[in-house]
Amino acid sequence: MNHRPASSPARTVDDYRATVAGLLAHLADRPAESVPVTGALGRVLADDVRSPIDLPVFRNSAMDGYAVRAADVTVTPVTLTVAGLVPAGNPGAAPVGPGQAVKVMTGAPIPPGADAVVPVEDVRRVSDGHGAEAVAVAGRARGRDEGPLPRRGADPTPEDRIVVERGRDAGEFVREAGTDVRVGALVARRGTVLAPRHIAALAAVGLPTVPVVRRPRAMVITTGDELRPAGSALAPGQIFDSNGIALAAALEADGVTVVRVAHSVDDPAVFAALLREAVAAADVVFTSGGVSKGDFEVVKDVLAPLGGVFGPVAVQPGGPQGYTILDGVPVLSFPGNPVSTMVSYEVFARAALRELGGLPAPQVREAPLLGPIASSPAGRRQFLRGVVRGSGVEVVSGPGSHLIAGMAWAEVLVDVPAEVTSLPEGAPVRIWSL
Ligand code: AMP
Ligand code: MG
Repeated sequence: MNHRPASSPARTVDDYRATVAGLLAHLADRPAESVPVTGALGRVLADDVRSPIDLPVFRNSAMDGYAVRAADVTVTPVTLTVAGLVPAGNPGAAPVGPGQAVKVMTGAPIPPGADAVVPVEDVRRVSDGHGAEAVAVAGRARGRDEGPLPRRGADPTPEDRIVVERGRDAGEFVREAGTDVRVGALVARRGTVLAPRHIAALAAVGLPTVPVVRRPRAMVITTGDELRPAGSALAPGQIFDSNGIALAAALEADGVTVVRVAHSVDDPAVFAALLREAVAAADVVFTSGGVSKGDFEVVKDVLAPLGGVFGPVAVQPGGPQGYTILDGVPVLSFPGNPVSTMVSYEVFARAALRELGGLPAPQVREAPLLGPIASSPAGRRQFLRGVVRGSGVEVVSGPGSHLIAGMAWAEVLVDVPAEVTSLPEGAPVRIWSL
């Protein structure tokens, strides 16, 4: 089932990046999937989405007020008869004739005949029949100090009249159907990373599902007899397994579904069993540890005979790298030192995974060094941990690949070219956003 990858071990960072991208490239061919809009936050649209309906769905009121014929209120004050009441959600059939108004709530359909809405603030209620006593409409809240207005669904009585204090032009406070989106118009473009505002629009046009780019599925296997899960009591010689959690977090941040994070002791049978599970469940497998020159390199020992390609990449940290194609599934093997694992992910896997998922590429730009770099290994491209201050970048941690807390302070990786062994303050360097 396994085959030896055609290329020989890559040596430069750029070569190995290209190798990894090549190992993952087939995942781009998978068809899109449909997901509920409720679960689509952060997903990437696989197609343009067009509206199945007009928005607004129907001509409706932008205010709590009175639907009128604008021609009736060109001269104010003017008294109109209230011919009905239309709450939001009501079909609102009562037409507005000359000299009439229909009370409408925000979002209620505009009755036939009306072409403007006078807000309640601009209207006085008139309690008629016994002396035409004016009642001020004090606020927009329905029912507040409004006296005996027609209740929901009730027919208005002929006594219900209003005095319009300020006129409105035709179209004022009327939201015409389709003025936001027309049937068939674009709601969100293919490639959009769905944010809450996109979800709002998709929900408003009533779409239950959207087509999105399929997320790659990854499984992570960490290796090492010394590793214990967070929360355990450490026996002498043991440490906490941070790489599994860290890699899973990195993958999830880049839109990859992590199917499982497993740990293997340095026992080939245990590791091999987890590998079999991984290649059955995932599109790509990440392993950490067990790839260098020690006595118990379980990853290399199991995978090299299966066609795995192991060897140094000219990078610091993260020199020992390996990859294998197992049952068609790429297995990327990173060295175990925590900073090596994270830098390996950032430098070799992250951009390719984001591209597969349709997410924007990680940012790489240039900035001047705020202090000198005294020494950098000859022949190896070095990625130091840095923080951006103003327009420059400061190196914030030593180069040791065990300095995981130092990495937590960093915002960027400072990219020191392979042939460079020192840099003065002010020298421009490429910085990779973490
Ligand atoms: P290895 O690559 O297996 O030789 O491991 C190199 C160093 O990284 C050793 O100090 C390991 O204890 C440490 N290490 C390996 N895996 C992990 C892990 N999952 N979490 C934290 N440290 C690790
Ligand atoms: Mg180990």
